Amino acid sequence: AAAAASSSIKQVKLERESELRIEVANDTPLRLRLLNGTAEIFGTELPPEMWLNFPPRLKFAVFTWYGATIEMDGATETDYTADETPMVSYVNVHAVLDGRRKLAKASSSSAADSTQQGPRVIVVGPTDSGKSTLCRMLLSWAAKGAWKPTFVDLDIGQGSITSPGCIAATPIELPIDPVEGISLDMPLVYFYGHTTPSQNVDLYKALVKELAQILEKQFTGNAESRASGMVINTMGWIEGVGYELLLHAIDTFNANVILVLGQEKLFSMLRDVLRSKPNVDVVKLQKSGGVVSRNAKFRQKSRSYKIREYFYGIANDLSPHSNIANFSDLLIYRVGGGPQAPRSALPIGADPVANPLRVTPVNIDRDLLHVVLAVSYAQEPDQIVSSNVAGFIYITDIDLQRRKVTYLSPTAGDLPSKYLVMGTLTWLET
Ligand code: ADP
Repeated sequence: AAAAASSSIKQVKLERESELRIEVANDTPLRLRLLNGTAEIFGTELPPEMWLNFPPRLKFAVFTWYGATIEMDGATETDYTADETPMVSYVNVHAVLDGRRKLAKASSSSAADSTQQGPRVIVVGPTDSGKSTLCRMLLSWAAKGAWKPTFVDLDIGQGSITSPGCIAATPIELPIDPVEGISLDMPLVYFYGHTTPSQNVDLYKALVKELAQILEKQFTGNAESRASGMVINTMGWIEGVGYELLLHAIDTFNANVILVLGQEKLFSMLRDVLRSKPNVDVVKLQKSGGVVSRNAKFRQKSRSYKIREYFYGIANDLSPHSNIANFSDLLIYRVGGGPQAPRSALPIGADPVANPLRVTPVNIDRDLLHVVLAVSYAQEPDQIVSSNVAGFIYITDIDLQRRKVTYLSPTAGDLPSKYLVMGTLTWLET
């Protein structure tokens, strides 16, 4: 039934180690505050008595370790209290990670062994097993303890750092804001350009490798980051190519703690294949009953909201600029998937398979309408695969007669680089 339009204030008393699970209504926000006690949202403590505004459709839980009273104002899709949660097992994992960070820190200050690393945690499991949420808790708890863990998001479908179609990393210095999400200073972003890895598996792997190499370099010069370690989120793809990519990520980032959520089979497969590595722990964790399953359509929608958020902000607080450029000003490239030369056009013995990492220029035509392009930091086209990106633009109009392109950009003025990268990522502004 549709929720009452008249907003009513409601109080909820939470017993220790229980949580209030909420899905905010589809079109109206929800106000909520902590009246007394202590409570947290995915690892971040709520300030006492301060009203917080949660946007429509947000799904979250307010958890309390010792008991709390919560006040809510507004409509919800659902709200209910649950006293069975896996939070104790999650916080136990955090305690173990914290111990390893301390060890790494202690040994990095003795010159004898400055190579000590903090934990490199990778969270794996099917879609909607609570991976992103667990990453968030582990990061926020670590940040609360004054660590500076690096969050790595390898999920091109539902990225929590930036637009979909990317892999990215950013240091987490403060517990993650329950409404605003991760505060971004200068995230390190690589543009893959598609929302499924099968579009170009080699490119996905190449970008994961680039990202890992840069982080490795940063860690070498930064004892604090190195001791704090990483928390890596992955895609919900765990079969076939997806499984292969998980192994690739574990290997490339030298992950030493593998947290498997909600799937016995994946746990046992990973445990068996990693048995030969004594320094790698594979840990099975229970999925929270609060995790909300989202169907393909919902996921598609939230991708679209995520792109909107990039340009307009979470609370519509950003105003992107509309710019016009000549066709000749925009140098657009795509990676892989270019037209294959027919066998007859190739030297004898050459294979007609397209190089998945080949960079080819794209002609501007109507097909570019509604495409999201990344602005690469590359200096030359052949550096596009190995370069991270500054941000994104969105094509809103193509004028073939006047040879002009209109695009949306988060800022006014010139783009930070002239090389643009195109994939299959599109967006329909609504
Ligand atoms: P995954 O990363 O595995 O796809 P998420 O962590 O994104 O899964 O969780 C799916 C959805 O469920 C998200 O919207 C998240 O906010 C919500 N969610 C997770 N845990 C809870 C919980 N305990 N109570 C309510 N909602 C939750």
